[in-house]
Amino acid sequence: MRTVAEILGESGGILTGHFLLSSGRHGDRYLQLAAPFQHPDLAAELASGLAGRVREAGLEPRVVLGPALGAIVPGFALAQALGVRFVFCEREDGRFALRRGFALTAAEPVLVVENTLSTGGSALEAIALVREAGAAVAGVAVYCDRIPEPRGVFDVPYVSLERFEIPNWAPEDCPLCRAGAPAPIKPGSRPPR
Ligand code: ZN
Repeated sequence: MRTVAEILGESGGILTGHFLLSSGRHGDRYLQLAAPFQHPDLAAELASGLAGRVREAGLEPRVVLGPALGAIVPGFALAQALGVRFVFCEREDGRFALRRGFALTAAEPVLVVENTLSTGGSALEAIALVREAGAAVAGVAVYCDRIPEPRGVFDVPYVSLERFEIPNWAPEDCPLCRAGAPAPIKPGSRPPR
């Protein structure tokens, strides 16, 4: 298959600009996974690749769980490729919760899916939710990641379809700020210039 970078590039999913990342650091590129997932054929291609990694790692989930809203379509695509059930969690009073009648059982190991892993915070919250519900976590699967050693973040198996090395800086070291660029924007909130 093609690389994630190729598919993102083709679908307009690699944004350039001046971005404020969820970590508080600044960056000049942002990976917008919603771009390729507009297209069912690209969604199926990406999900097939990630499902292959999940199987190679020996993981046998019975359910895929993704955080709303961003991971609903990518998570469903992965569940379809794996032939398992899909549920999503959503924020309720600031915490992840399972609503809409979704339930997890001890008999169904859960694979937590994320689009892009930067800090791992959402996935860690989702893992806690699965365990509170009495189910086991089979692992974490992401379409791409951009942190140097994410394997140290989780106490469960971790698979990533592709690693991106994207530089980012503390605000005081940001070359874009030094060059007098307009204030950074939070990606996803509005289109880049
Ligand atoms: Zn900056």
